[in-house]
Amino acid sequence: MIDLVDTAEEARFRTSARAWLRANVPSPPLPSGDTREGFARHVEWERRLFDARWSVVSWPERYGGRDASLWEWLVFEEEYYAAGAPQRVTQNGIFLLAPTLYEFGTPAQQDHLLPRIAAAEDLWCQGWSEPEAGSDLAAVTSRAVRDDAAGGWRLSGQKTWTTRGAFCTHLFGLFRTDPTAGRHRGLTYFLVPLGAPGVTVRGFGRLDGDEGFAEVTFVDVLVPDEAVLGGVGNGWRVAMSTASSERGLSLRSPGRFLATADRLVALARSRAEALSPRLRDRVIRAWVGAQAYQMFTRHQVSAMLDGAQPGARASLNKLFWSELDIELHETALELLGAEAETDTAWSRGFLFSLAGPIYAGTNEIQRTIVAERVLGLPRAP
Ligand SMILES: Cc1cc2nc3c(=O)[nH]c(=O)nc-3n(C[C@H](O)[C@H](O)[C@H](O)COP(=O)(O)OP(=O)(O)OC[C@H]3O[C@@H](n4cnc5c(N)ncnc54)[C@H](O)[C@@H]3O)c2cc1C
Repeated sequence: MIDLVDTAEEARFRTSARAWLRANVPSPPLPSGDTREGFARHVEWERRLFDARWSVVSWPERYGGRDASLWEWLVFEEEYYAAGAPQRVTQNGIFLLAPTLYEFGTPAQQDHLLPRIAAAEDLWCQGWSEPEAGSDLAAVTSRAVRDDAAGGWRLSGQKTWTTRGAFCTHLFGLFRTDPTAGRHRGLTYFLVPLGAPGVTVRGFGRLDGDEGFAEVTFVDVLVPDEAVLGGVGNGWRVAMSTASSERGLSLRSPGRFLATADRLVALARSRAEALSPRLRDRVIRAWVGAQAYQMFTRHQVSAMLDGAQPGARASLNKLFWSELDIELHETALELLGAEAETDTAWSRGFLFSLAGPIYAGTNEIQRTIVAERVLGLPRAP
């Protein structure tokens, strides 16, 4: 069974979210959140969202949320993107770390960290990839060594491709705590303040020129035992929980693509002269793709409310949204023709869409996961 219609309560929630967004979404749009100045402006926006209790609607009230249901969260996401609201520069904290904290955090970690994430006081980045470990994440060599005298762990190593790392305050990352254990077993998930002595953060530019990435090095960085999330040696399991949020429902909800599809249809309507039968088909295909992704996620939410865990099926979402995003943007660029050079919203969106099949685990890796763990096909030789 898939729930397709707003209940009276969901409809009220939608109206209230829409009204607040209409009155508050910044106009003109904020500068890119992947620049220092733009990031600071986005953090101000996040704090406004928090003050009005819209930053983490599905969280408990005691952490700044509204105890909203998963359906209401989807409704909020639809309204958020339809209103053209700013990108969520807190996404790593809200959508990736927080679900992992709910699953693996101690009550003390939850009570301390979740309200600070909701209020955009702590700004988190993800420290998984290393120069020699990307798709093969279990190859990480950054390590953590127990220091009994100091009562904590000493971290060393290097992370890279850390999104917005140059602007964040904290990093969650995987470190090797037992070099003698199996590759997946010797890892531990750490929560690290980027201001700690021994941490160096160097921002660097992306394809579009914004300083969206950072390289983070750790030289003998001391963190306390409370910096371990989910237990020593349990890092792989904890990281896979974060990955499931990153690939699945939380990071890229359908609202984002429905809004882009609506913008594409509006563009096509205004470009009758460019709308060849082939392009018309592309517009329809991309729009249908966005509706299909919404149906897919509604089906998934219905299953989750019946107790199912998305697990490996999160890889299906990731394939779906990343390929859809390219399709939507490529079609818009084709409609715009030479004007695409000057239309920064579509052309920058297109450049970013090209990263979709890479981040959150490449699509080649997701296809292998779907083949082996969702469809039960034999492992490739
Ligand atoms: C926009 C963006 C943001 C990112 N943000 C972060 C971040 O915040 N934190 C973070 O830790 N990382 C981040 N990353 C890094 C991202 O997770 C890695 O780029 C990704 O996991 C791939 O790793 P790699 O770049 O080392 O490529 P590689 O692993 O070297 O892969 C290169 C190519 O080989 C293919 N390949 C590799 N192994 C296999 C295999 N077994 N089977 C089939 N094909 C294979 C890959 O699919 C890919 O096409 C980000 C990347 C991008 C583009």
